[in-house]
Amino acid sequence: MKVPAWWNCIPGYEDMREKAKLVGEQVLRPNADISDREGVYPKVSLQALADAGFGAVTVPKQYGGLGTGCSGFAVLAETFAQYCASTTMVWVMHTAAVQTLFAAGTEEQRQRYIPKVARGEIGGLAFSEPATGSHFWNVVSKAPRTSGGYLLNADKSFVTSAGQADWYIVETNSPDSTKSDPLMFLIVENDQPGVEAFPFDALGLRGNNSGPMKYKDVFVPAYNRLGDEGGAGFYNDTVIDPFFLLGSSACWVGIAQGAISMAVEQAKKKVHRDTGQSVASYQVIRHEMAKAQILVDSARSMLYRVAEKMDETTAKGVGLDTCLYPLWELKTHAADIVIDVTNKALQISGGRGYLRGGVERYMRDGRAGAVMGPTNEILRDWIGKTLIGLPWLE
Ligand SMILES: Cc1cc2nc3c(=O)[nH]c(=O)nc-3n(C[C@H](O)[C@H](O)[C@H](O)COP(=O)(O)OP(=O)(O)OC[C@H]3O[C@@H](n4cnc5c(N)ncnc54)[C@H](O)[C@@H]3O)c2cc1C
Repeated sequence: MKVPAWWNCIPGYEDMREKAKLVGEQVLRPNADISDREGVYPKVSLQALADAGFGAVTVPKQYGGLGTGCSGFAVLAETFAQYCASTTMVWVMHTAAVQTLFAAGTEEQRQRYIPKVARGEIGGLAFSEPATGSHFWNVVSKAPRTSGGYLLNADKSFVTSAGQADWYIVETNSPDSTKSDPLMFLIVENDQPGVEAFPFDALGLRGNNSGPMKYKDVFVPAYNRLGDEGGAGFYNDTVIDPFFLLGSSACWVGIAQGAISMAVEQAKKKVHRDTGQSVASYQVIRHEMAKAQILVDSARSMLYRVAEKMDETTAKGVGLDTCLYPLWELKTHAADIVIDVTNKALQISGGRGYLRGGVERYMRDGRAGAVMGPTNEILRDWIGKTLIGLPWLE
């Protein structure tokens, strides 16, 4: 029996996926282990993605992007994650940041940043703060007005690519907005005085540099404000959340697929001399493989359906906030199944699965999904509130 091609790739994106696999095999996989063991930021892999044309995938071609839409973004993230989850999550955050810059930016800001990211510069999102944790829509940091711009003071608890990105979109409060939503985005360059990044020593995604950052008395010129003073929550709902939820879900699906594929290969190869049988020939093992693959495909089916619908929604000129509910279900499911699937993959692999550098890395990397914002607890609450007709965010 041959698994139909459409089950494993959104039709029309097969060539892009093949190209992504090639970079994955040649660059991401060989560098993944060193990123994980030594906590090395995956610069080489990220540059390889940019060199392959994946630096600004969702941005329209006339601005130097690839114009892949959400479908291409999902297929790419899922494919990369099978090789190196650290690189993939950096790239997902970067892509969400670039798309936000494109959506909220002025023509001058687009021209200033998009060509450089297409060549390999990296953007980051500095939202979560220690004071409000995963409630990243309620930050407490401030940026009072000063001559020609703002004086930003912000503590951020986790920033993927902290100290490594070329620029960050920092979410803060606007000085004296009369709008009900005081949120404002500022673009801050990594080498500006007052910008400091701290180490990230975590269970998984160890190449991510997702450590804390401090922005102390950072002068941000008015021309580096992204969008208006106040009202940036609109971009959270229509750009950042949709792109982050889709891209990160693709990452969890890819990690899960990478783990089960590795476990299946190992189970086929390992033969017990006493029985003359491979591990894969034990029916109970095949059942575990099947259960794991069905879980992966359940999340992948949601991923593709939502990605295609996001592209249709954009083509109709409708906001992506209309896709949030399915995205919440998708992210919660993908982040749940990656825990279950990587656990099954380790069990199928036996003691070898427990050794450093194999299936266990997928398990540690994938565990981040449920705690990354919006966390699975918060998403389940929003889903539940929607089911009983309550407003999801008060
Ligand atoms: C690897 C990694 C990379 C990250 N990258 C970035 C980044 O690039 N940019 C960025 O801005 N942030 C980033 N984050 C932060 C992330 O988005 C979350 O904000 C963070 O993981 C939440 O952790 P916390 O310790 O602040 O959780 P807390 O908010 O303290 O939550 C603790 C627990 O309480 C639960 N909880 C919290 N609020 C509620 C509620 N209202 N209802 C029910 N349960 C609740 C949570 O689900 C969790 O189980 C990253 C995090 C990780 C782990």
